[in-house]
Amino acid sequence: MGKIKVKTPLVELDGDEMTRIIWKEIKDRFIYPYLDITLEYYDLGVVYRDQTDDQVTTDSANAIKKHGVGVKCATITPNAERVKEYNLKQEWKSPNGTIRSILDGTVFRKPIIIKNIPAAVNSWKKPIAIGRHAYGDIYKNVEMLIDGPGKVELVYTDASGKEKQRLLVNEYKGGGVAMGMHNVDKSIESFAQACFNYALSEKISIWFATKDTISKKYHARFREIFDEMAKKKEAELKAAGISYNYFLIDDAVAQIVKNEGGMLWALMNYDGDVMSDMVASGFGSLGLMTSVLVSPDGKYEYEAAHGTVTRHYRKYQNGETTSTNSVASIFAWTGALAKRGELDGTPDVVNFAVKLEEAIIETIEGGEMTKDLLSLSTASTKKELDTFQFMEAVQKKLDSKLK
Ligand code: NAP
Ligand code: MG
Repeated sequence: MGKIKVKTPLVELDGDEMTRIIWKEIKDRFIYPYLDITLEYYDLGVVYRDQTDDQVTTDSANAIKKHGVGVKCATITPNAERVKEYNLKQEWKSPNGTIRSILDGTVFRKPIIIKNIPAAVNSWKKPIAIGRHAYGDIYKNVEMLIDGPGKVELVYTDASGKEKQRLLVNEYKGGGVAMGMHNVDKSIESFAQACFNYALSEKISIWFATKDTISKKYHARFREIFDEMAKKKEAELKAAGISYNYFLIDDAVAQIVKNEGGMLWALMNYDGDVMSDMVASGFGSLGLMTSVLVSPDGKYEYEAAHGTVTRHYRKYQNGETTSTNSVASIFAWTGALAKRGELDGTPDVVNFAVKLEEAIIETIEGGEMTKDLLSLSTASTKKELDTFQFMEAVQKKLDSKLK
């Protein structure tokens, strides 16, 4: 069988530790043998980021801007300990943060659904994707402790220095707390745009939820921007057979646990932070959570939601067997390949990605899996495979499917 031609270069962002080990194995087993592909390679391993003063991270984001699709391995975000461990020049910023701000993107997390790994919530049968606005609100707040009687006010002074609005926040009789937070239309619009792009790309309906009954200006502004965009996209939504739905956040939470899933749940920053952890643990393992960064102008970067799995890497370094689940990392590749194929108009590339995903799911549904899934799986017979045995089993399955 000849190799399948991938028309446009795929931007590849390598990473760190155990996921870097898995990354190479994925390319050797699932990419090079089957695809005639140009990988535009950027080494985001912390050592090379340090050597290039983090320029490589910026370059990789610009490459995704240029080509449209990237696939990223998990990377170390250095702290003081890591600076010592790798003898780094400084605590470089989170690569994901840097890439997100260059692409002005929104991160969507989606669990991989496997029949014999039931979700903790019985009704969940399809993935619930979460889109979290990643700018402002409580994450860019200013706050103060109030240590006695007095008042706190909110004042808006326009660019010419003229006071335009003044509101009393509270008249304190004793000690207390106060907080100011903000958001900007441009960021909310980018977020909304990315949510509609993602929903249209995945063909799933949008649930957007805020508390606009209480926050009649701040939360209501988010709702207005989403509602406006939904109106603009009406024809596209209809053509894709999906809908835009607004919920009060309390209602959305109550509905989501009774629903079978299969939607994009778009949330403001804090709600997204909390609900993405709730949904992730509801679906089981971190090794089954995928993540994609989508920009308002339709650029995509796929990755696993988990980190570099340091604890397993230590074992690997000691020559011990490891039980790292490669599924989310392989799905990062299939997600990127399917998107590449869709944009290039090459259905055989999309089909290869689908086959590889099926091979993974059928392997696990057939009872072969890594340790993290063993206790979650309801398969009648289960066989524990280590990191590399699992990938070997998937490749066998893939080969038999491609025959
Ligand atoms: P982590 O790498 O996600 O691992 C935390 C624990 O979760 C692991 O020790 C393991 O538990 C379990 N786990 C995660 N992924 C797994 C997988 N694929 N298969 C099996 N088990 C898995 O988080 P971390 O240890 O807090 O962070 C390690 C490094 O990753 C840090 O340097 C951090 O900066 C970086 N990080 C990067 C990203 C990213 O690039 N997107 C995201 C998060 C963290 P057991 O040990 O109990 O088996
Ligand atoms: Mg959180």
